[in-house]
Amino acid sequence: MDMTRRDFFKLTGATAAAAALTAVGVRKVAASTGEPLRIKYSKEYHTICTYCGVGCGIICHVQDGIIVNAEGDPDHPISEGTLCSKGSSIFNATYIYDEKGRPRLNPARLTNVLYRAPRSDRYEVRDWDWALTEIAKRIKDTRDRTLVQTVDVGGRTVTVNRTNAINWLGSAWCTGEENYLFHKMCRAMGVINLDHCARL
Ligand code: SF4
Repeated sequence: MDMTRRDFFKLTGATAAAAALTAVGVRKVAASTGEPLRIKYSKEYHTICTYCGVGCGIICHVQDGIIVNAEGDPDHPISEGTLCSKGSSIFNATYIYDEKGRPRLNPARLTNVLYRAPRSDRYEVRDWDWALTEIAKRIKDTRDRTLVQTVDVGGRTVTVNRTNAINWLGSAWCTGEENYLFHKMCRAMGVINLDHCARL
């Protein structure tokens, strides 16, 4: 089908108008049920999506300490109200709606440390004290076992104090300050392979 630039704008304009009318209609229907809007008594907080380094803006509506709704922030300079499928479902990271549309804790959340031993085919529930001690112990063992203190460069001994056996990947769930501290800790341990999804 041949379409001129003028035809294109006519078509997209008509589509936008139809969508706007539909939205108004939906709001009217919602109003006609007499049900108050879910966000009516909530307070609005502007925050950043924690899933990846793009950093899209999200508005969270909070009522009595519970998030009742989360949606894209149209005033955010990067995302301008849009969210990808992960960001759009961020409400469900903690809550789901029950059959009456009220938020309740999402029962599918992971609330325990799950550990799968080498060559095992199942996860075991462990506590955080065990997990953190085990992680620290394994990092220290690996680092001490593999630390290279000096290398020979053309007959000259150069101090490097590095290990190639550990790779550290930062997290978009952490703040810039936390990632800065991770970076410093890695450098102090001699870890030279470190990265982050946002390249922080
Ligand atoms: S996960 Fe999606 S919504 Fe969240 S910051 Fe990244 S691109 Fe944006």
